[in-house]
Amino acid sequence: MSSSERYMPEVLIVGGGATGTGIARDLAMRGVEVLLAEAGDLSSGASGGNHGMLHSGARYAVTDPEAARECATEGEVLKRIAGFCIEDTGGLFVSLPRDDHAYLDRFLDGCRGSGVRAEEISICEALRSEPNISSDIAAAVRVPDASVDPFFLVWGMAESAREAGATVLTHTPVTSLHVKEGRIARAVLGRGERRRTVRPEVVVNASGAWCGRVAAMAGQRIDMQLDKGSMVVFNGRLVNGLVNRLRPPADGDILVPHRSSTILGTTSGPGTLEDVRATATEVEGLLRAATEVLPGLSTARTIRSYAGVRPLLNGNGRGRQASRAFTVIDHSEGGVENLLSVAGGKLTTCRLMAEKASDAVMRRLGRSGACRTMLEEISPPVIGGGSFQEEVMRRKYGAFTGTILAECIGSPLGREEACSCESVSVGELEHFAASPDVISLSDLMRRTRAGMGYCQAGLCVFRMASALDAGEPRREIERFLAERWKGISPVLRGEQLRQEAFKAHLFKVHGIDHTREG
Ligand SMILES: Cc1cc2nc3c(=O)[nH]c(=O)nc-3n(C[C@H](O)[C@H](O)[C@H](O)COP(=O)(O)OP(=O)(O)OC[C@H]3O[C@@H](n4cnc5c(N)ncnc54)[C@H](O)[C@@H]3O)c2cc1C
Repeated sequence: MSSSERYMPEVLIVGGGATGTGIARDLAMRGVEVLLAEAGDLSSGASGGNHGMLHSGARYAVTDPEAARECATEGEVLKRIAGFCIEDTGGLFVSLPRDDHAYLDRFLDGCRGSGVRAEEISICEALRSEPNISSDIAAAVRVPDASVDPFFLVWGMAESAREAGATVLTHTPVTSLHVKEGRIARAVLGRGERRRTVRPEVVVNASGAWCGRVAAMAGQRIDMQLDKGSMVVFNGRLVNGLVNRLRPPADGDILVPHRSSTILGTTSGPGTLEDVRATATEVEGLLRAATEVLPGLSTARTIRSYAGVRPLLNGNGRGRQASRAFTVIDHSEGGVENLLSVAGGKLTTCRLMAEKASDAVMRRLGRSGACRTMLEEISPPVIGGGSFQEEVMRRKYGAFTGTILAECIGSPLGREEACSCESVSVGELEHFAASPDVISLSDLMRRTRAGMGYCQAGLCVFRMASALDAGEPRREIERFLAERWKGISPVLRGEQLRQEAFKAHLFKVHGIDHTREG
C-alpha cells in the first residue's frame, strides 16, 4: 500500500507484544477488521524480555491477591490453548532455615484465598523432585507453575489472528495520532516508503511500557512506572521444574527451566525505554542470592544475561510492591472517545487482558460477538510421533509445523542442521527468512531460536546470514553480534569466557570483532 492510499480498518492496535497480538486474535475471531502495527518485531518489548514463567499465581498470593487470582485461572487456560509452547513442569516454593517461618502460613492462606492449588510437601519429597537444591531447606510447597516460551506464544497468536483475517505489520511504528473533535481522526504509521495513513474507528494502545508515549500522541496522560528486571541464562536444565524462594518476592529467587537452558531472575529497579540491558553488578547479585538455594549455580555455565521493562501503572506501590493486575483505560473521560489503552498485567494474563480490551472495543463499535479465545486453541497441544526434528519443531511451531517441515523437506539442504545448540534446520531459517516480517538476524532468531544456545551464534551466524540474504550481510552480522555481546559481557567467566575467546579467533579470520558494541 503506498503512502497516498487510505486504509480503513475498524480497529488499529498499537503494539505487537502479548497484549496486542492477543487483542488482534480476539477481535479478528469476533469478525472485526483489525490492523496491528508493531514498531519493531513481535516480542521486541517486554514480551521477549521476561522470565518465561507461566504463573500459577503463587508468587503474588500474599502481596497481590487480584493478580494471583487472574494468574491462577489464566495459567490453566493458556496450558489448554497454547500447550505447544508451554512445559507444564510444575514448581516448588522452598524456604531456607534463615527465612521467616511465619511466611509459610501466610503463603498457604494467600494461595487458598486466591484459588492457587498449593500443597505443602515433605523435605524428602521436595529433594526427590529437585535433587540439586540445598538439602538445608526448611519447608517446601508444590504449585502448578509452568514454563512458557513467550516468542512462540506471541508469534502463534499473531499467526492465529492472521488466519482469522487480521493484518499484522511489523517494523511499522505508529508515529502520530491526529485528534479532531474529540476523536482520533487518523493515524500515521511507518516511515519512508512504508508510510501510510489509516482512519480507524477505534485505536487500542497496547504498547506496554510505551503506553504513556503513545497516549501522549493523542494528548492523553498515563502515569507509567518503568521497572527494569534482569535475568541470567545458564546452559542446560539445572532444575526439573520451577524453583521459587518461599519468602516475600526479592531478587534472584526464581529459577525457570526453559528448553535447553535455565533462567534465573529477576531484579527490580527503575528502568528506561532505551538501551535496556543487565549489568555485571545485577548478575553478581542474582547469582549470590540463587546460589543459596541451588549451590551448584556457582560453577554452572552462564550463557548470557538480558533485561526487560515491566509496564506497571503508577499509583499502586513501587517496583515489587506495584500491582501486577491490569487496567483498560477508556480515554473518553480524557476527551478522546475512540482511544483505549491496556496497561499493566502479565504475560500469563495476556488472554484475559485481550478479552477485556476487546469487550470494550465491541461496545465502542456497537457490535455484538462473544469472546472465543478461551475455547479455541492457538494450536493443538504437542503429541508424540514423527521424527526427532519434527518433534523439536512442533514444540516451537505447534500446528504450523506441517507447512514449515514440508518446505524443509522440499529444499535441497532443508533438513541439514544450521544451529546445533538449538537444533534449528536450514529449512526453518529459509522459511522464516522469506517472511516480510523478518528483516534482521534478530527477527530470524526470535522465530527459530537459532543463535540462542550456548555458542551464542558463534557457529550459525553465517548460515543465518546466508538464509536472510540481507542487503549488507557483513553489517547485519556485526549488528547482530553486537546485540548478543551486550548480554554476554556481564556474564563472562569460566566456560563462556573460553567460548568467547574461541569465537574471537574464528571471527578474526573475517575481520569481525564480535566484542564491539555498535
Ligand atoms: C523482567 C521481567 C520479567 C517478567 N517475567 C514475567 C513472567 O515470568 N511471567 C509473566 O507472566 N510475566 C512476566 N513479565 C511481564 C510480561 O513480560 C509483560 O507484562 C508483558 O510481556 C507485556 O506485554 P505487552 O504486549 O503489554 O508489552 P510489550 O511486550 O512491551 O509490547 C509492547 C509493544 O509495543 C511496541 N510499540 C511501542 N511503541 C509503539 C509505536 N509507537 N508503534 C507501534 N508499536 C509500538 C513495542 O515495540 C512493543 O513490542 C515480566 C516482565 C519483565 C520486564
